[in-house]
Amino acid sequence: QVPLKPGRSLMDWIRLTKSGKDLTGLKGRLIEVTEDELAKHNKKEDCWICIRGFVYNVTPYMEYHPGGEDELMKAAGTDGTDLFDQVHRWVNYESMLKECLVGRMAVKPIAAPKGEGCCIYSVFLQQIPGDETILYMKTFTIKYILVCPKKVYIVFSVLYFFFYSYDWFQTDNLITIVIYTKQKDMNAELVIVDCQDKRLRGEIIVGDHSYLVEVDLDHAVQEDMAVNIAEKVGKIEIILKKKDNVHWKMLGQPLESHNTFIKRTDRGLFYRKCKLVSKTEVTHDTKLLCLMLPKSTHLHVPTGQHVYLKKNIAGTEVVKPYTPVLPFLPLDFKEAFSHDGAHIYLMIKIYSCGLFTQALDHLQIGHYISVSNPEGNFKKSELQTLEDLFLLAAGTGFTPMVKLLSFALTEVSCLRTVKLIFFNKTEDDILWRNQLEQLALKDERFEVQFILSQPTKDWVGKQGKISSSLLSEFVKRSRKDSKVLICICGPTPFTEQGVQYLKDLGYSQEEIHAFTA
Ligand code: FAD
Ligand code: NAP
Repeated sequence: QVPLKPGRSLMDWIRLTKSGKDLTGLKGRLIEVTEDELAKHNKKEDCWICIRGFVYNVTPYMEYHPGGEDELMKAAGTDGTDLFDQVHRWVNYESMLKECLVGRMAVKPIAAPKGEGCCIYSVFLQQIPGDETILYMKTFTIKYILVCPKKVYIVFSVLYFFFYSYDWFQTDNLITIVIYTKQKDMNAELVIVDCQDKRLRGEIIVGDHSYLVEVDLDHAVQEDMAVNIAEKVGKIEIILKKKDNVHWKMLGQPLESHNTFIKRTDRGLFYRKCKLVSKTEVTHDTKLLCLMLPKSTHLHVPTGQHVYLKKNIAGTEVVKPYTPVLPFLPLDFKEAFSHDGAHIYLMIKIYSCGLFTQALDHLQIGHYISVSNPEGNFKKSELQTLEDLFLLAAGTGFTPMVKLLSFALTEVSCLRTVKLIFFNKTEDDILWRNQLEQLALKDERFEVQFILSQPTKDWVGKQGKISSSLLSEFVKRSRKDSKVLICICGPTPFTEQGVQYLKDLGYSQEEIHAFTA
């Protein structure tokens, strides 16, 4: 994020888009844009960008872009889809930039790859006609192409593939959908199911990919459902209760992405509406929000991952990421904290001039907000066989540390030390201070160090900002060559500086996990 000029906030942008001003310079006309035409609009004062086949004139948006003009200019006059997906695929650009839409890219005939030994590294997806099985080949090589009249035969050498399939059956009052994944380490976090108004969506996460069953059900079902997971064999059962005891002729009409196995990042974010059930104060500006998932949703947000909240603000859909925490910090880590699966807790700092957090603060108990599927690149496997865990948090950068702390103290048997180094401006800003201090007293593996950048003169603790000397003082292996992980989260410059200091101190890339957007 870069500092924006006064009058260039997201709210100001929303106001401009609603002002009726012609933001494309085309007086509302939509045109077909060729690649050559797109390439001509590559200057700050005349900048077009293509995202997923649609071209936007982003010239008026330049000064409002939270990442700065230079970032936006990286995609000037080109297809910026990959860049956009890398940085913020979650941003609802269709809504934010709808007044900047110039038109579609002109369709260009695709040239067939020629020649023997031509390599393609991409995802190949094929549905076998009449079969509910997906054949997925991750990497494949075209061996040769035979061109015969009216037909082109392409012979591939398959490097590896997976099989995914589903089946369904019924009793008088139940519908059971069974998904066979053959994945041995299947668990509740990898299965996301939603059933809304006859629409069933079941997503199974497989590494960076996901398999989806998505149908418009033949008949209505009741709100509550059950999801059973046979972890060892990777079998998943979704059990729906029929609303009327009629015989179903089919499960339902397949929807667009039904029975597909693709990269997770290629799926659009899916949202469901959750009810705000409570809002409690954590500090003077930070609140703990409890959101209740619908009965017809099965969703467990994994440790280290975040969700996106979406809300319509002044006619524009605004999306922001938040990292779920626990309702409180458990003091006894002998047993895994039992998650009821029905609630999501978010610890959110309300900024006085924040667009989204102000809207959230005004959300009434009993009202609804859209919550997305989880995302994030932290893998619990990073914690396996760990001996020393260091958590460097600044402000609400504490949020991913909550579940991490709980998971590490409960599940990582060889863990010797967990040290939280928590940077805040003042004492009043420290989140869950009492709970952290109690935990440190109770569990000898855990230690917390508060560091304040703007303390009052009564503060007897440590003072300062993240620095090489502070880190060398607090981040120390419990024994030479111990297996260590250092997690860091806070404002972007804090995180970037921290990572650099840690590298300078000799920690390797694998020993550092930075939480970023
Ligand atoms: P905006 O309208 O965008 O900004 C208004 C003003 O608020 C800014 O001028 C600035 O003064 C201040 N401000 C806004 N955003 C930031 C920021 N990111 N850093 C410093 N100052 C800022 N926040 C939480 O409170 N809890 C979480 O669990 C959480 N999880 C996150 C997870 C991820 C992966 C990321 C990338 C961010 C997370 N955030 C979290 C930050 C959150 O997404 C928003 O940026 C924040 O709530 C501000 O949104 P806003 O629309 O109210 O502010
Ligand atoms: P804050 O109160 O403004 O700052 C917390 C501490 O960090 C303060 O001591 C502050 O010192 C210091 N700090 C701020 N900017 C710094 C910088 N550039 N260099 C070094 N130290 C700096 O923090 P906040 O408002 O709660 O913001 C928390 C941040 O965490 C947000 O940016 C949020 O987006 C991010 N976050 C990210 C994730 C994720 O997963 N990626 C999750 C949650 C939160 P000063 O006195 O100098 O300001």
